[in-house]
This record gives sequence, C-alpha cells and structure tokens, in this order.
Amino acid sequence: MASQYYHQSSHGHVLPFPVGKVLCIGQNYSDHIAELNSIQRPEPLFFIKPNTSLAALSRGVTVPKNKGECHNELELAVLIQKKLTCVTEQQVEAAIWGYGLALDLTLRQIQARQKKQGRPWEVAKGFDASCPITPFIPKTEISEPQNSQITLLVNGKARQNGNTAQMLRPIYQLISEMSHEFTLLPGDIVLTGTPAGVGPLVAGDKLNLSLASGDKNWQFHAQVY
Ligand code: ZN
Repeated sequence: MASQYYHQSSHGHVLPFPVGKVLCIGQNYSDHIAELNSIQRPEPLFFIKPNTSLAALSRGVTVPKNKGECHNELELAVLIQKKLTCVTEQQVEAAIWGYGLALDLTLRQIQARQKKQGRPWEVAKGFDASCPITPFIPKTEISEPQNSQITLLVNGKARQNGNTAQMLRPIYQLISEMSHEFTLLPGDIVLTGTPAGVGPLVAGDKLNLSLASGDKNWQFHAQVY
C-alpha cells in the first residue's frame, strides 16, 4: 500500500523535493540512553528508514497489529534541500530547508530480539508508515533550532518533553557526520534522536505534538489507529 506522502510546508504548500530517505541517530539524548539501560559510546549509531516509512502525521498513526509494543520516539526532523557529501558543520546550515516533528515508531520487542541476535533493525523501525511526520516550518521561523522544546502528550498526559539543547550531537555536527557516511540528497530527512519517555502507543490514543522555539509554538494533533 503506497502512501500518498509528499513534503509539505507549515503554510500548506507542497514542497518541490522528492520523498527521500530518512537518516536517523540512535541515542542522542542521555536520558533516553538511561531509560533503555544502554551505554553511551563515542561512535554514533546511525540508521536509515526507507522513503516508504514516511506518512503525514495528520492522517493518523497506524500501529502494526500482532507485532508487540509499538513505541513513540518524538524527534526534531530536518528537511534537507541540497546535496551533502563529506561537508563541514559550517556547510550544513545552507542545506537545511526547515524543521518539523516526527515519530520514529519502533517495534520495541522486535528491536530487542534483533539486538539480542546481532541482526539489523529494519523490521523494527523501517516498516510502512513508521515515520509519521508533520509539515515543515521554514528555518527562518525557527529562531533557535538548538534550543527548542519538543513535547508529546498522549491522551492529554505528558509522555515526552525534551529540549534540543540536550542533544549529545548538535544538529549541524550530526548532519556533517552523517554526510561522511552517506550522501544526503534534496528531499531527505534527518531525525535527530529522541529524549526520554518512549512507551507503547495503542489504537484510540490521541496525540498532541508541539515544538516551541523563541516566542513561537506549533501544535500538531493525531489519532492512533
Ligand atoms: Zn529514534
């Protein structure tokens, strides 16, 4: 079932970029590393979700059936507008179109099984619609991307509440490092890691995602199916 996903702006425009891959980092906030009883390593943990993982958050979040717990991972998402291969941190800013919020949906029990068996994670993190995402806010409207509050409420209760200032690898450094491993293309998305508070989503949950930067605040709502 191919999704009808395309990149949109927070002003309601369709953006002229292809729907690319989603580059992700595991463990970029220390409070999340602690909650998974994981240890912090110097080398970054990068992985990729395919473009078929993208789905408009506003159309709802679908939890796969009979696959164990499906966890929320709220993350600041970055839309890339220029090709990036082996670039410095200073070259990253010009390659960013804007920012949004994404859920890096994770089948936690399947992921744990894969980890234990030393196998890759794609089946736990790369399934269809495993990356519900909001429209993108132009970067000129985000005054402090590295000091923005991101929050997730589930049924009105706080589930995740983090500040991008807590990232172990800040956004520009993260994207520069990724560009030394993989070429980023216009239309690709970078997910910057999740703060603590991951937990299972179930059908019927009502989600409220928010992004606050400077004196501005964006709110997004979604239903879980
Ligand atoms: Zn994640």
